[in-house]
Amino acid sequence: MKNIVVIGAGYGGLTAAALLAKDGHSVTVIEKNEQPGGKASLLELDGFSFDMGPSWYMWPQVFDDFFAEFGKDATEILELKKLDPSYRVFFDDGDVVDISSDIEKNYDTFDKLEDNGADKLKQYLDVCKKQYDIAMKGFVYRTYNSIFDFFSPRMVMDGLRLKAFSNFHSGVKKYFKEPKTQKLLEWITVFLGGDPRNVPAMYCMMSYLDHHHGIYYPKGGMNGLAQQIYQIALENNVEFKFNEPVTKIKVDGKKATEVITEKGSYKPDFVINNSDYHHGETVLLEEENQSYKQKYWEKSTMAVSMHLAYIGVNRKIDGLTHHNYFFENEWTEHFDQIFKEPKWPDNPNFYVCCPSKVDDSVAPSGMENLFFLVPVACDLEDSDKVREEYFEKVLDKFEKWTGENIRDDIVVKSLFTHRDFKERYNAYKGTGLGMAHTLWQTAVFRPKHKSSKVENLYYTGQYNHPGVGVPTTVISSQILVNELNQKGVLS
Ligand SMILES: Cc1cc2nc3c(=O)[nH]c(=O)nc-3n(C[C@H](O)[C@H](O)[C@H](O)COP(=O)(O)OP(=O)(O)OC[C@H]3O[C@@H](n4cnc5c(N)ncnc54)[C@H](O)[C@@H]3O)c2cc1C
Repeated sequence: MKNIVVIGAGYGGLTAAALLAKDGHSVTVIEKNEQPGGKASLLELDGFSFDMGPSWYMWPQVFDDFFAEFGKDATEILELKKLDPSYRVFFDDGDVVDISSDIEKNYDTFDKLEDNGADKLKQYLDVCKKQYDIAMKGFVYRTYNSIFDFFSPRMVMDGLRLKAFSNFHSGVKKYFKEPKTQKLLEWITVFLGGDPRNVPAMYCMMSYLDHHHGIYYPKGGMNGLAQQIYQIALENNVEFKFNEPVTKIKVDGKKATEVITEKGSYKPDFVINNSDYHHGETVLLEEENQSYKQKYWEKSTMAVSMHLAYIGVNRKIDGLTHHNYFFENEWTEHFDQIFKEPKWPDNPNFYVCCPSKVDDSVAPSGMENLFFLVPVACDLEDSDKVREEYFEKVLDKFEKWTGENIRDDIVVKSLFTHRDFKERYNAYKGTGLGMAHTLWQTAVFRPKHKSSKVENLYYTGQYNHPGVGVPTTVISSQILVNELNQKGVLS
């Protein structure tokens, strides 16, 4: 049995550590911050508990499978609640549309928004389902060691048949003519940190999950999920070191021999890095040991950063549900101002989470817990003045669109933007989601699980295949641990 150090206690680090410890290895997780969860940290302020990062529990099958590996039932342990409506969309002409967990209601909704909308949604979701089935059979749960693994004849045939390699927007546009129905299906690309015009259409499988499997809320939110995985890791004897940033991975010959931290050092047989991939490579390793040098990162398309606001309001707010989107009519301008001419978006689309609608524990009685998220370009100037002014701008829109004036009722407020992502998580350019999912940054084109320079150094997390998101990060660790076991690397 091996001695393994995992750097970082994000979902990637927690799940890899739990799986390896279950197999009997001695695992130590070293985390820079004070708590487990990484981006899914918890912020507690004057009786409010904010999920600092992810808020959507999607693709329940992935969590069911992960918990089952430890003989546990995810639904039971997480006390999952299915949300209905799944989410609400506010359009800038005043229209408000709910997407339900009852798909029949969604067919009716699409019929009202577009000629033959129900039929078109059925046809489109059929394609998304086929894409999902293909992906689950041959794409998601696998390692890509060479380009031939990705462009296998089968994958290419299936992919071409489904037009999986065209862009997401083209895929949607083939079925839907109305801007509103298009947006209702394209918003999901924001999860991948991209623009519907350059995210591959194959990710429409997420729309199948959205409409057919629904959206859930785990007890304690997404930090609650991280806490449960942390508990499982502890039950399997994983040791955790918090408030202990790693400063160096020392390499001798082709082997990582020592992990040096601000408090001491460790001499593991294997190292798994879950910290931001760019940080792990370019900061923790000397240049000669880097598989991906600074030039590689400069050429990559990073996913979005975010302007986040954690807000406590001293009264209830009508008109909101748990998940709420606010979409501009000309929404491509916002994507252009992220990926083409980076600047603070003039007319932002944004998301507001209000978990106090379903969870009394996240806000004092009679109050509301709000989380505002605006996707923005990486590396923008974010002085206190800029971030405050931007919050005011978003709040103006929120008040106008919902008819709720909350400004004077705010009792708690904390903003989080680029520099916080850099300082708290060592995130490259302040990205919230790592690398975007363009075609050339998908599957075999994402940074590899195994270092090509250091024999006993591996990676897991949102930078690896299958990519950005909580379920995909869990899968990244499952792929890594399966690969290590199948190749007998740890025996
Ligand atoms: C605001 C926001 C909203 C999101 N919403 C959703 C959502 O609703 N649903 C969804 O599925 N996904 C969502 N995501 C994406 C999802 O949260 C991430 O893809 C996932 O959590 C990434 O996990 P990770 O383990 O790869 O990385 P991280 O969570 O970043 O974990 C890396 C860990 O490494 C630590 N670390 C860094 N440097 C060092 C060092 N030198 N030494 C020791 N430790 C170090 C960090 O502190 C961190 O704990 C969201 C992300 C954000 C930011």
